[in-house]
Amino acid sequence: MNAVCRPLPRWPLLVLALALALGCSPFSLTQATPETVRITLLHLNDVYQFTPLEQGRVGGLARVAALRKKLLTEAPHTLTLFAGDTLAPSVESISELEGKPLQGQQMIDAWNALGVDYAVPGNHDFDFGDAVLRERIKASRFPWLAANIFDNHTGRPFEGLLPYQLIQLSGVKVGLFGLLLPETEVSSSVSPDTNIRDICSTAKPVVSRLRAQGATVIIALTHLEVEQDRELARCAPVDVIIGGHEHERIEDRSTGVPIFKVTADAVELGQVTLDVDTRTGTVRKLDWKVHPITQDLPEDPTFLASMKKYAPLIAELSEPVGHTPVPLDARKTAVRSQETNLGSLVADALRQAAGTDVALVNGGAIRGDTRFPSGELTRREMLSIFPYRDQLVRLQVTGAILQAALENAVSKSAEDPEPGRFLQVSGLRFAFDPSRPKGQRVLCVTVGGKALSPTATYSLATLSFLAGGKDGYEMFRGLPATPALQESRTPRDVLSDALRTGKPPPMQQGDGRIQRLQGASASGGACASGSSSL
Ligand SMILES: [Zn+2]
Repeated sequence: MNAVCRPLPRWPLLVLALALALGCSPFSLTQATPETVRITLLHLNDVYQFTPLEQGRVGGLARVAALRKKLLTEAPHTLTLFAGDTLAPSVESISELEGKPLQGQQMIDAWNALGVDYAVPGNHDFDFGDAVLRERIKASRFPWLAANIFDNHTGRPFEGLLPYQLIQLSGVKVGLFGLLLPETEVSSSVSPDTNIRDICSTAKPVVSRLRAQGATVIIALTHLEVEQDRELARCAPVDVIIGGHEHERIEDRSTGVPIFKVTADAVELGQVTLDVDTRTGTVRKLDWKVHPITQDLPEDPTFLASMKKYAPLIAELSEPVGHTPVPLDARKTAVRSQETNLGSLVADALRQAAGTDVALVNGGAIRGDTRFPSGELTRREMLSIFPYRDQLVRLQVTGAILQAALENAVSKSAEDPEPGRFLQVSGLRFAFDPSRPKGQRVLCVTVGGKALSPTATYSLATLSFLAGGKDGYEMFRGLPATPALQESRTPRDVLSDALRTGKPPPMQQGDGRIQRLQGASASGGACASGSSSL
């Protein structure tokens, strides 16, 4: 706690002058200058949908709005903070309303309805590019803070962003500034016109400036990895760091500066209380609690009314479009490292739709990152599995090219637990041994039950992303590719049809078409024949 207690020059007269400037009556003036002022921070981070999750059991910003209103009546000096990541990724953000792609507009409407005081952009807020983020900032009825995002041409902060703010809460000067993780430059769609600067060299002068301007309390609103938050805590003297990015609840006091983050998607609302001694200018006490957002909370009717225009879209997204008799495994760790029943279903359905010998789908194209339980699948779930707009295309490839593609699929399997290039397959079976050198990991490839011939030609169905040579699939680049589906049909439609008709049916588990060998390939007999319907 020592790090948050710091004597500061504060003059009672100044407090008086500020209170008078704020129009306080003599009576309220005595109220406004007690020995201790309690400042409350309500905070959320990484919120991608405004509706509740888990069949309505948890989350939902209408509930947060109602709880916030109640808390505001109990704690007048309150700031509501949002620590980044909201425009993407989500099913709503890739949906359209009145013919226009939403691209996060629904979340700005939600935050405007809820009432946010300050927000910091997260890495995913750049996913639709600089121009969309600028528009969303413009549409926000609250300021976005970031001290380390700059325009390369002007050298000024990214348009619409404020580096920092100094405000007064009951006479206490509170400084706030924002920071975004610098890696966003490569991980999202930041344009080359924008640069994201280093954390410490940005924060140090900002904090000095805020202190020089009389800030008693300094709040860093960040979207960083927690280790970077710790780095910030060590290099710039702030009182508290309100962060995001990890999606899980974090309370870290290892550096002496408390760092708080809550679980993603408004499953929780964080509440920090700071008791500031107005005579000494120190933070006497700092507490944190977390409010679970559950179905036991009421929903705020004003919030719901503001979001009414999205009701038809939300209803459409909850329509059932398919059914699965078995749980479907879409976990990122699984679809990017091994055969899963969903991966095989997707590949089988695409191969059947395209009428080809084989089909290849990269694990990175199959999203959702969960195990879908057996039962109905909604349009929302289908969109969450296939959020991209890739086309299904047909190519003619030699056996040698297929072999090279499979080698690329497993080229990172020893180094990375979840490489997006890992393939889910149909029409072929193979084994791989990640302990062997890259380029020699694939073994025992069969197509339609026969050993792969390097010189034979095979018809292949795959996504336009791979056919274009992305994710290391250079061997496909430049090969003539023709659309495999009728114009308006997408791979998502093919999967929906499969889950509606049960053709092809999802399997309980994979059928062994991909075998991962762990250093066993040298011992002979590595390629188990296994049963195959292919
Ligand atoms: Zn993030």
